[in-house]
Amino acid sequence: MTIHVIGAGMAGLAAAHALATQGQAVTLHEATPGAGGRARALPDGTDNGTHALIGCNTAALGFLDAIGARQYWVQPEPGGLPVHDCADGSSRLVALSPAGWWNGARRPAGVSWGGVLAMMAMALPFKDRTIAEAMAAHPAFLRGFVDPLVIAALNTPSAEASTRRLGQVLRKLGAPGAARLFVASRGLGPDLVEPALAVLATAGAEYSPGSRLRAIQVREGRATSLTFQDQDVMLGAADRVVLALPPWEATRMLPGLPAPDAFAPIVNLHFAFQPGGEVRFLGLLGALCQWVLVRPEGVAVTVSAGDAEAEQDVEELAPRAWAEILAAVRAFHLPGDWPLAPPPCRVIKERRATPRQRPGPIPAPPRRPLANLALAGDWTWPDLPATIEAAICSGQAAAREILR
Ligand SMILES: Cc1cc2nc3c(=O)[nH]c(=O)nc-3n(C[C@H](O)[C@H](O)[C@H](O)COP(=O)(O)OP(=O)(O)OC[C@H]3O[C@@H](n4cnc5c(N)ncnc54)[C@H](O)[C@@H]3O)c2cc1C
Repeated sequence: MTIHVIGAGMAGLAAAHALATQGQAVTLHEATPGAGGRARALPDGTDNGTHALIGCNTAALGFLDAIGARQYWVQPEPGGLPVHDCADGSSRLVALSPAGWWNGARRPAGVSWGGVLAMMAMALPFKDRTIAEAMAAHPAFLRGFVDPLVIAALNTPSAEASTRRLGQVLRKLGAPGAARLFVASRGLGPDLVEPALAVLATAGAEYSPGSRLRAIQVREGRATSLTFQDQDVMLGAADRVVLALPPWEATRMLPGLPAPDAFAPIVNLHFAFQPGGEVRFLGLLGALCQWVLVRPEGVAVTVSAGDAEAEQDVEELAPRAWAEILAAVRAFHLPGDWPLAPPPCRVIKERRATPRQRPGPIPAPPRRPLANLALAGDWTWPDLPATIEAAICSGQAAAREILR
């Protein structure tokens, strides 16, 4: 029996890992030359975009453990997230969990008891509506904490993001250590994708990059063959498939699957400046960018849900982003000889980074739409917004399902 895993993003890697380490014969097919999908390193080693995990991402952190990569993910700001407000020039350290706000020095801007209660109410199964509506009575807290949380967790602005979707995140953030923040210290290539592929190779899995699936032939509720761009694979009676594709590809192969159909971009700017020092992670308010990731060998900023920015070019974006970076760097006294003029900058636009997490029914495709085919992918895990955690959970669930 061969299990064909299609798509080497986080969901496909997690499924292939779960299957191969149980002794199954796995072939992992990936359309592009490299693995990682929406969490990948580009050929020159640059991350496509900054990816952070939090303590409650237990499946993702467990996966890092399983592939021997956990030690590369560091907690850059254990004392609280440094947040600089570019609009009024204020700076503070913010605890990411309300439990940390007992310490007055770790409270976000604009926090009030009423605001905290309104936020916590979103964790309860009340009516699904936009977060801006639910927080309308608490604009300062919305701006100072909820907006950045929403854009980080849902990649959708509060004006259109769903309270039910945010509630899924808030319920997880309550556990001790749940809000600890982790980033890859060197990059997604060496700290995630390469260790995963190495473990797969050791477990005997075959990896086939540059192998795009074009179509799936289906008869009587079973997949009978897979058409790749360069070959047809006939499926034997015992062969199985895990389809770990983004929604637009999965629904092209299997029309009619319930799937998200509106997506939000993420734009990342990578500056060729090497400040040295430690890995740091800074938040920005009232700014174009939301996050600054400082690694010894480079500086990156993230513009989530940046519909307008996804249409702008580097000449427009880089000077604005660099001015914001410098303001935060000065506010928190980061070491290094930071130049006034923007260093060379590379812009990476992921136009369909995640689904737009709006109010309304959450698409819940069947885990096993065909007798010998299971689905994986961040969008197939309705319990969480589309994240690495959702992708890993879905991949592991698909592996369990296909072996049943
Ligand atoms: C810039 C950016 C920043 C993000 N930040 C975070 C973050 O901080 N924290 C977090 O948890 N999540 C973050 N995310 C979301 C996270 O990256 C995704 O949720 C996750 O990577 C999705 O994994 P997946 O395997 O479900 O899908 P994908 O990564 O889309 O994987 C699908 C794979 O299938 C391949 N493929 C497509 N079509 C075919 C075909 N026909 N045949 C064969 N292969 C095919 C693709 O090339 C890809 O490798 C971010 C996403 C982006 C883009």
